Amino acid sequence: MCSAARERADSPSRIRAMNAPHPATAPARHILEHVFGYTAFRGEQEAIVEHVAAGGDALVLMPTGGGKSLCYQIPALLRSGTAIVVSPLIALMQDQVSALVEAGVAAACLNSSLSLEESRAVERELFAGRLDLLYVAPERLLTPRFLDTLDELRDTHRLALFAIDEAHCVSQWGHDFRPEYLQLSVLPERYPGIPRIALTATADQLTREEIARNLRLENARRFVSSFDRPNIRYRIVDKADPRRQLLAFIREDHQDEAGIVYCLSRRKVEETAAWLAEHGVDALPYHAGLPVEERSANQVRFLREDGIVMVATIAFGMGIDKPDVRFVAHLDLPRSVEGYYQETGRAGRDGLPAEAWMAWGAADVVQQRRMIDESEGGEDFKRLARARLDALVGLVESTTCRRQHLLDYFGEASGPCGNCDNCLEPPRTWDATDAARKALSCVYRTGQRYGAGHLIDVLRGERSEKVIERGHEAVSTFGIGADVDDRTWRSLFRQLVARGLLAVDHERYGALALTDAARPLLRGEDEFMLRLVPEKRGRTKRRSASTEIPAGIPTTLFDRLRAWRAETARERNVPAYVIFHDATLREIALARPHTLAELGGISGIGDRKLEAYGAAILEIVAEAG
Ligand code: ADP
Ligand code: ZN
Repeated sequence: MCSAARERADSPSRIRAMNAPHPATAPARHILEHVFGYTAFRGEQEAIVEHVAAGGDALVLMPTGGGKSLCYQIPALLRSGTAIVVSPLIALMQDQVSALVEAGVAAACLNSSLSLEESRAVERELFAGRLDLLYVAPERLLTPRFLDTLDELRDTHRLALFAIDEAHCVSQWGHDFRPEYLQLSVLPERYPGIPRIALTATADQLTREEIARNLRLENARRFVSSFDRPNIRYRIVDKADPRRQLLAFIREDHQDEAGIVYCLSRRKVEETAAWLAEHGVDALPYHAGLPVEERSANQVRFLREDGIVMVATIAFGMGIDKPDVRFVAHLDLPRSVEGYYQETGRAGRDGLPAEAWMAWGAADVVQQRRMIDESEGGEDFKRLARARLDALVGLVESTTCRRQHLLDYFGEASGPCGNCDNCLEPPRTWDATDAARKALSCVYRTGQRYGAGHLIDVLRGERSEKVIERGHEAVSTFGIGADVDDRTWRSLFRQLVARGLLAVDHERYGALALTDAARPLLRGEDEFMLRLVPEKRGRTKRRSASTEIPAGIPTTLFDRLRAWRAETARERNVPAYVIFHDATLREIALARPHTLAELGGISGIGDRKLEAYGAAILEIVAEAG
């Protein structure tokens, strides 16, 4: 429960952090080690912690899984008073609070899920100065009553800092816009001098600027991390029989592991979840059309149990803090490169190997182009949507490093990564320049009024009824493509549409017309390389994340630890990862510690967890021999 801190007599974490002798280590590091159990800061964490602890404002741009939470949690423990954390999602708040309480930190939250009585109890704790961190929903924070409380804390110097999580919610362009976030600009006016730290995993520049402006953080120090997620392996495959391809991917590489499968429609979500379940995968559906109880029950199971696969629309995602999601699969194209990056970013937050897998076909792109063409939006909107789709097509079709392509999109230069499909197995390509030129020219010669079927007949020199009727035997492109088979021509036309060189006129039964983008190719200034689609994909040596642990790890010990964790999490009614992360269990299985001191040296085990679970773990290790 959210208000677990109320049992505590005093803020134990801060007292421990402040009073414990730590001659050799700086206070921030001391907290890192003893409260959170980690041995080193990651990336910019330490600089951010120091800046905020010293009273500075900060805008933190860090990818998902980068470790944003510690950036305000440690300053919250270092500064006197309570840190107020604004967070948009109740589920997220609760899990964060549980994790903090497990680590022995006095944290609580206030949101609409609490009863009046529970809320009052939390408020009493707050007043009594017994909270290190208080998570609140933005609408709660902005109530006059709560602002009065904050005034009181300010006047008595008990306001440590404000942290604004998921700060992109203040951006009107993003899909997570929350109007209440805009009003958070009252904070610097009403509470000058109280440091504010805003955090987001949003990679695009426009949103960043909007965050700074709307939150009045123009003068805050910016901490921009690399947006690379090196532990995520990107794989984009050609769609043949997508459900079976997905099943094979799960069975071969991610058996019994947690994952998310994204589909575009609710119906497809339900069908895919049911089909996977029939085939022995622990799959559950999630979309906005399900009854609320079912939806939240599925979400809770996904968060709390091990190895659940959630099949979902993009309604499922933001705030999925689960660190051990081992794969994110797309059965449909995401809407944009930003969307793809966000969605795949939910894999591998714990830093262990994870995979982003997508099955796509040119037909999907053609369908999306059609949806844009037929949408209600104005021309500007359509132009933007088309540009976004083009960027995505560039990514899925690229024959070079996927990561390089992704990072380049976000303005970050990098080299080939060695951990994506194109790096691991460079695709074979064929030079389709000549064929593509013939196709475009055939479209032109026949008056830009026909669909692919007829055009292929002309190119292949088929004397079909329609060809004869229209007199197309006489055009100069008749029969010039007889050497290319029908299937290849079809795929080529789809690619030409997918890449925007040809436009489909849906009102004229799919007639194809040239676009401006076709000019360079027609003029001989461009080439057209296509990925060679293997007839039958042979499995290559690929191992799952869990088998990538070094040889010699007793998987059985890991399994026993996992079973113990599941049991403990159930008893305590918290997600399994709140007890320990997979990474921590793996390290225990590898190190086989015999003493509490040895166990305490493992990453992810702070003082409080050592005390609470140390004996049980040592027993399991000892039993395993
Ligand atoms: P974000 O909010 O940026 O997505 P989190 O704060 O949830 O990331 O952190 C991601 C994961 O990394 C968490 O499971 C967290 O416990 C872990 N983590 C964060 N900082 C460190 C660190 N310095 N050492 C080891 N693990 C860390
Ligand atoms: Zn690569």
